[in-house]
Amino acid sequence: MDISTRAIHTGQDPDPTTGATIPPIHLTSTYTQASPADHKGYEYSRTGNPTRANFEKVLADLEEGQACAAFASGMAATTAVTSLLRPGDRAVAYGDLYGGTYRVWEQVFRPWGLEISYTDETSPATFAKLIDAKTKLVWLETPTNPLLRILDIKTIAEIAHERGAILVVDNTFATPVLQQPLALGADVVVHSTTKYLGGHSDVVGGAVIVAKAEQLEPISFYQNAAGGIPGPFDCYLAHRGVKTLSLRMERHCSNALEIAKHLQGHKNLESVVYPGLSDHPDHQLAAEQMKGSGGIVTLVVKGGRDGAYRFCERIKVFALAESLGGVESLVNHPGVMTHGAIPQEIREARGISDGMVRLSVGIEAVADLIADLDQALEA
Ligand SMILES: *Cc1c(COP(=O)(O)O)cnc(C)c1O
Repeated sequence: MDISTRAIHTGQDPDPTTGATIPPIHLTSTYTQASPADHKGYEYSRTGNPTRANFEKVLADLEEGQACAAFASGMAATTAVTSLLRPGDRAVAYGDLYGGTYRVWEQVFRPWGLEISYTDETSPATFAKLIDAKTKLVWLETPTNPLLRILDIKTIAEIAHERGAILVVDNTFATPVLQQPLALGADVVVHSTTKYLGGHSDVVGGAVIVAKAEQLEPISFYQNAAGGIPGPFDCYLAHRGVKTLSLRMERHCSNALEIAKHLQGHKNLESVVYPGLSDHPDHQLAAEQMKGSGGIVTLVVKGGRDGAYRFCERIKVFALAESLGGVESLVNHPGVMTHGAIPQEIREARGISDGMVRLSVGIEAVADLIADLDQALEA
């Protein structure tokens, strides 16, 4: 069945006791046993909860994986995957990485003994050079944030596997509707469900999905041992959001493309970055690897930081806020907001300039969004 159908039906069996079409939210921390260790599969809600299990089921299905573990945030999911490594192991990643991933690696895992190498080149060959005998894990985000470069998942997965490493893809920006990393050879997918999967900017969450069920064992162990789980109500909310993911992604993509085309060549912009534009450096790869170019458009405003600040202050329909992927449009200044944890010289070397603003294009009427962008850019 199509992903849009599975998003609605997987993990949504009617409640066997009442017939409730929508399964109840299991607000319980514990489960009554008939006799010691004689239970119905649940003992304590850190270890397992039926509302969380339903949510994990639909995410595994959408990513075409075999199993999923949900976490209290995207960062908790990232930490769970990183905990598979041991001191002295190496992780290799593309440098244009979510700021929080960079922060937890550099400030928590490096002092603990993790070795990390970054590349600023998108070509799979540079990954091949960085992966040494100590490398256990290769980590990608694609599209990257905020530069929207596209990395070749299939080729990088082959290179990682030849050298005995696993490939992890943070699929938050693309979602399984636009890109399926496990089908392309990745071993693990990580999500911040806070973004498109939840889709309504009202719940923080994360998830890890694996290609093979046995790969989930150490992740589930970590989930129960460290305890960074989402509550049942959070799982319910995010699961409710997932049901409309396909429809929302269609509109995010069409709105973003129309906005990118409209703003291309604007007199007050230095550049418009969107993988769906033919002048994007990875346009061809995006067309092959993705079913749409996503809902994020990055702009470089003329006038550096002052120009970007004026734009952020004048825009009205777009809210000036961190995060992305909700139904409402947001604008963010990566240098100061989402990527503030990355030292300025590293940010600039990576091309995250002070004039840069990142749009998370929502699903409002595109004419209203374009009118708002036009008035804000007139300043
Ligand atoms: C937001 C985000 C994260 C972190 O997720 P939280 O839910 O905020 O902890 C990780 N990766 C990407 C690409 C993100 O956008």
